[in-house]
Amino acid sequence: MTIIDGKKTAADIRAELRVRAAAFEERYHKKVGLAVVLIGEDPASQVYVRNKIRGCEDAGIRSFAHYLPADVTQEGAEELVRSLAADDAVHGILVQLPLPGHLDAERILACIPAAKDVDGFSAENIGRLALHEEGTVACTPLGVMELLRRYGVETRGKRAVVIGRSNIVGRPMALLLLNADATVTVCHSRTVGLAEECARADILVAAIGKPDFVTADMVKEGAVVIDVGINRVDGKLTGDVDYASVSKKASLITPVPGGVGPMTIAMLLSNAISCAERAAR
Ligand code: NDP
Repeated sequence: MTIIDGKKTAADIRAELRVRAAAFEERYHKKVGLAVVLIGEDPASQVYVRNKIRGCEDAGIRSFAHYLPADVTQEGAEELVRSLAADDAVHGILVQLPLPGHLDAERILACIPAAKDVDGFSAENIGRLALHEEGTVACTPLGVMELLRRYGVETRGKRAVVIGRSNIVGRPMALLLLNADATVTVCHSRTVGLAEECARADILVAAIGKPDFVTADMVKEGAVVIDVGINRVDGKLTGDVDYASVSKKASLITPVPGGVGPMTIAMLLSNAISCAERAAR
């Protein structure tokens, strides 16, 4: 059994990103620019935003941090995003979610043009993914694909099962695996016979948000198991997979923490560079 080291893989990718960002700067005489918008004072969001800005600095990407008060109006938030959309120094825009309750997140996100949508959440980018066309793909599922690729996991013709169908993880994950020639099944809260579906998977991706949901009896001997879940139990981070028992059956498995998690910011930075490269073409 091999433990997939997301921390090391993310560090390798970040080193590659520094080279890509520097090459962009040398060729176009400006830095890749990523704008990060944080509205309100949610402590978890503050940590995520800080890490994203640090990641930019580390990769040689120029970050534009915008902090709006929790009571900003809908118009105020939209106006900021529209001004970033019009700014040539900004190649990617990220609005940290969740937003304070009085704001309509969909309308604010709609102000981000698809070409600057580094999170890949827009209808245009999800549509491009569904059509297997070039576009920006959500960072977490993209990070999973990168882990599979770098650990030499064959997807073509393999049976892949994704548990979860959210717009930010499960759904794009299933489309990416389909585009990579896997035979894909998506399970969710209404699936009948979920354990049997999972037990047929060569590649099993868990993105549910329920600690230790996937147990050894749901896993085929030798399967590749990817745990996207991040759950806090008694102050400790734990995934959606019962690691202790499943790791005895899997051929490859991601731990939590240190598996998929570190890949997400690396892929965000990669998406920002890709947006800049496409805009400059
Ligand atoms: P959502 O809550 O949006 O989606 C959860 C999905 O799991 C839904 O599709 C839901 O089904 C399904 N589900 C819930 N309960 C069951 C059940 N009992 N049986 C089968 N399916 C079930 O979560 P996200 O997709 O946003 O996130 C999933 C997990 O991944 C979370 O733990 C989150 O913290 C983590 N995460 C990790 C990231 C990382 O960087 N590593 C980034 C983003 C998320 P239905 O659609 O029917 O409701």
